[in-house]
Amino acid sequence: MDLMINSIYTHKEIFLRELLSNSSDAIDKLHFKSLTDTSIKSDFSIQIDINKEKRTLSITDTGIGMSKEELENNLGIIAKSGSFEFKKENKDDSIDIIGQFGVGFYSAFMVADEVVVETKAYGSDKAYCWKSSGADGYTITDCDKQDIGTIITLHIKEDTEDENYSEFLDEFKIKMLVKKYSDYLRYPIKMECEHSRKKENAKENDENAWEQYKTLDTLNSMIPLWKKNKKDILDEELNGFYKDKFGDYADPAKVIQSKTEGTATYTAMLFIPSTTPFNYYTKDFEKGLQLYSSGVLIMDKCAELLPDYFSFVKGLVDSEDLSLNISREMLQHDKQLKIIAKSLEKKIKNELLSWIKNDREGYEKFFNNFGLQIKYGIYSSYGANKNELKDLVMFTSSKDNKLSTIAEYVSRMKDDQKEIYYACGETIEKIARMPQIELVKDKGYEIFYLTDDIDEFAIKMLMEYDGKTFKNIASGDLDIETEEEKKQAKEKSEQYNELFKAMQEALKDKVEEVKLSSRLKNGAVCLTSVGDMSIEMEKVLNAMPSDHKVKAQRVLEINGDHPIFKKLCDLEKSNPNKLKDYANLLYTQAALMEGISPEDPVDFSNKLASLMAE
Ligand code: ADP
Repeated sequence: MDLMINSIYTHKEIFLRELLSNSSDAIDKLHFKSLTDTSIKSDFSIQIDINKEKRTLSITDTGIGMSKEELENNLGIIAKSGSFEFKKENKDDSIDIIGQFGVGFYSAFMVADEVVVETKAYGSDKAYCWKSSGADGYTITDCDKQDIGTIITLHIKEDTEDENYSEFLDEFKIKMLVKKYSDYLRYPIKMECEHSRKKENAKENDENAWEQYKTLDTLNSMIPLWKKNKKDILDEELNGFYKDKFGDYADPAKVIQSKTEGTATYTAMLFIPSTTPFNYYTKDFEKGLQLYSSGVLIMDKCAELLPDYFSFVKGLVDSEDLSLNISREMLQHDKQLKIIAKSLEKKIKNELLSWIKNDREGYEKFFNNFGLQIKYGIYSSYGANKNELKDLVMFTSSKDNKLSTIAEYVSRMKDDQKEIYYACGETIEKIARMPQIELVKDKGYEIFYLTDDIDEFAIKMLMEYDGKTFKNIASGDLDIETEEEKKQAKEKSEQYNELFKAMQEALKDKVEEVKLSSRLKNGAVCLTSVGDMSIEMEKVLNAMPSDHKVKAQRVLEINGDHPIFKKLCDLEKSNPNKLKDYANLLYTQAALMEGISPEDPVDFSNKLASLMAE
């Protein structure tokens, strides 16, 4: 507990935002119920009370309250250790972890040495009091509270040399904090505030002409942030709103605001996170936007509003066109919702495109976080969305080892370059050392380095860009030579037909063909493939849990200029049996370079050892 209090939050003052947000959420829940239960007659509001003598600050809400079980489950169990790990991993002192870890409430202990929660749940006739001094656990007892809702009372810590806790008992400070963090909350946050006025009949120059009096004032403007004019929203307010509402600890990388009228009238406030949520690429991640109808929350995560490939977008949509008591099932068929979703998709795409143009570095960061999802988007649904997404993808280019869009690659293509070349492998360093890329690089052509499993599948789905087809540099028919080079290669190759036939015979269940390579410059051998499936795709597919294994049609290519080639020619005549061993050894080496383990490592090792012993 101590660890959490002192390390997770950097600004103690945010405890107020956390508690007020919880109150607002609780009122939201009761408000929603009141749409169908007319017996609920509450003035939906939050009240802050300060008692300087007792050093208490209390927050009273007319929300849904908590049952005994809810008290135990929601306030009894402190956040899972995941949040500490998270904080540690992201060594950033400005991080304020909130909401998502269920620790918001505990931020109260940053400023309080005792917290008391009195609450009565909607639908219950009993009220309970939860009390805790932090580390020593908590107690729950019965109490008498008449109205549904919750009162949270903090006993504010005594001041220390370094910390002035008393400021949280100061009316002015509290007013300022409410304005700063919670101005947009939709329910009035009230507090007894002191004012002064001139006494009636007060005489001129009378020292006591002024008197103090108190009124219950509403501190927040209550206009939902998304209803305010863009220019009236402070960055700080917007970032706080995002972190608070959507459970992120960092400011958003991009904010997209949109007000649309016409076929669909709606206001949207969308955010692109600056880091990948820790569960983003897991099945636990739930996409969706908050859906409001005229300012009332009707759904927390409306999945229908976002296509899968933009599932990283967080935010909310407020539309007057939607009926309030709409159910989840009905929503799926709601025409209006579909129109809004289409329009949002277009908006997001355009924002991403202009991001590439206007803030390249920012976009690359974004792409490192969420690019995988966009590549999946190209591949999924049989490529139905590939045209929408093709300008948003980036791959690392051999030009400078930096990310490049396909359009940028195409604009740099040489006059004689027919295709867009790519190479696949585990890492950029490994690909850069592949013998297969030697010739392509020699010709001065750029290569896209593909390192994610999905990459080649996405590229195959794209098929072409701007009329230019994609070509794996490890495919059998690279077709990169000039006519003259081809002619020479053919003549040379024909001389060795017998040798290749013998080697192929020795490798009959492994390769389709053994041939003279036209792409190798320094390397002795390499594996390439013919047909639709590359060796990299074979590996990806076979790594998936399935009984059905696939196999690429492999070709073993040999460098005719390498000393080993002469040796093979000699063996063909002098020792055909040994040629078979050599064929197998060379094949295994080529496979190793592709990251494929030898089928029979013992045999490979024995053959290699006896060769070394010669
Ligand atoms: P989070 O807000 O991220 O869920 P918190 O620690 O702030 O985490 O709160 C835990 C839970 O306690 C809330 O989700 C809510 O169910 C409950 N809770 C907290 N404050 C209130 C309140 N004022 N009224 C009703 N329920 C509350």
